[in-house]
Amino acid sequence: MASAAHLPPAFTATHTTVDPHADTTAGEHDVTMETIVELCKRRGIIFQSSEIYGGLRGAWDFGPLGAALKDNVKAAWKRAMLQLRDDVVQLDASILMHPRVWEASGHVEGFTDPLVECTNCNQRWRADHLEPNKAGEIFCPNCGNKEFTDPKAFNLMFKTFVGPTEDTSAQVWMRPETAQAMFVDFAHVQLTSRQKIPFGIAQVGKSFRNEITPRNFIFRVREFEQMEMEFFVRPGTDEAWHDYWITQRWNWYVEHGMRPENLRIRPHAVDELSHYAKATVDVEYRFPFAWSELEGIANRTDFDLRRHSEFSGRDLSYFDQAEDERYVPYVIEPAAGVDRSALAFLVDAYRVDEAPTASGKVERRTLLKLHPSLAPIKVAVLPLSRNDKLVPTARAVSDLLKTDFITQYDDAGAIGRRYRRQDEVGTPYCVTVDFETVEDDRKVTVRDRDTMGQDRVAIDQLVGYLTERLPRC
Ligand code: ATP
Repeated sequence: MASAAHLPPAFTATHTTVDPHADTTAGEHDVTMETIVELCKRRGIIFQSSEIYGGLRGAWDFGPLGAALKDNVKAAWKRAMLQLRDDVVQLDASILMHPRVWEASGHVEGFTDPLVECTNCNQRWRADHLEPNKAGEIFCPNCGNKEFTDPKAFNLMFKTFVGPTEDTSAQVWMRPETAQAMFVDFAHVQLTSRQKIPFGIAQVGKSFRNEITPRNFIFRVREFEQMEMEFFVRPGTDEAWHDYWITQRWNWYVEHGMRPENLRIRPHAVDELSHYAKATVDVEYRFPFAWSELEGIANRTDFDLRRHSEFSGRDLSYFDQAEDERYVPYVIEPAAGVDRSALAFLVDAYRVDEAPTASGKVERRTLLKLHPSLAPIKVAVLPLSRNDKLVPTARAVSDLLKTDFITQYDDAGAIGRRYRRQDEVGTPYCVTVDFETVEDDRKVTVRDRDTMGQDRVAIDQLVGYLTERLPRC
């Protein structure tokens, strides 16, 4: 019997679970991927890597607003996983690791996808990604040919070399996941952080996979960031912790504004489980192209620690003083992608509604209804026009806000267009400085992105007003 200290706190499951073989069709959607890609490119959020050279497939660059969005996603994850908990500690491990790590983990042998080649145009495809036509036949998306070579296992890890010689003794791998460092460093981190089981090690960092068919914008790329946490538990308590983490992770997405109807938990079917997993669920999001994985939450058992013990010769078992017993901990792993989460947050936030213009007409406006903590810019400061009387006060307001919020100052163009620009990138509040501000009342107009409601707020009360509405931003 595990003592209460080994079990998760009480929680109420809030998520929707579907069948492992549930239909993946996305159905009617508010937005297409083309619209999101176009918006991201036009506003410099995300665009093709090395574009002036024709781009590199499966690689994307995050511009000023995209980088800020990604930072905010990571900060929100770290806040939930680390800051608000006493039982998870952080790790920032090297991307290059000893090559034996990947033999022990099973990646050298088994981290493969089935690769087929079109016998006509020689294009290579991931066999399980080829969509059948109406007659149920698989065809080459490039030339339409229906003949392919037999599938061959293609290892997704990128190879590179350490030092000046390019021979096999110098060969290392670019990590395809951040998780292994948490297993390899388990004993050291546990000892030095004085954590007792149950506890977790969390890491955010880049991973690399030589995907055969990168696609769907930043959904499947070759270089991406992961947010992974390995939670070490006493064997026998693993199922309870697995359920607990599913609920925690579901709540995190919903608390950050994702609509629950666009989320679901899909357990893996037995024949879909990875070699190391006793049970896995995917948190799936209803992307415009299909319901697809946003995050995997796996019960990895003691597989990884046992394998690394075996391959390294180091004992990675744990002595549990409270229970007076030694065991190899089981591991629950919530593994999320930063890029995929950012994409899901963008898709989910995209709305089109109607807004009044200065001339009293109504026009359509696009807005990103991002949760304020994720919004790249929190407050925009907009003088009514670029007038000599207004600009110094507007600059002073911007300087005042900068120390507390990510602020953007913009005085170029008509005020209505500037509002639209901020709506389109999800800025929760716009602060306008007008002639009344400077000539009369020292008050500014604060406009709410979602309701378009406006409040007149005294400049000396502005920080307090915004702090109340933008907690932890
Ligand atoms: P998929 O089945 O989509 O290839 P996976 O099950 O191999 O993903 P995991 O190994 O569980 O993915 O990785 C955890 C998370 O890392 C995924 O849920 C996803 O958010 C992210 N991720 C994995 N591969 C990629 C990729 N090629 N591009 C972007 N994000 C990725």
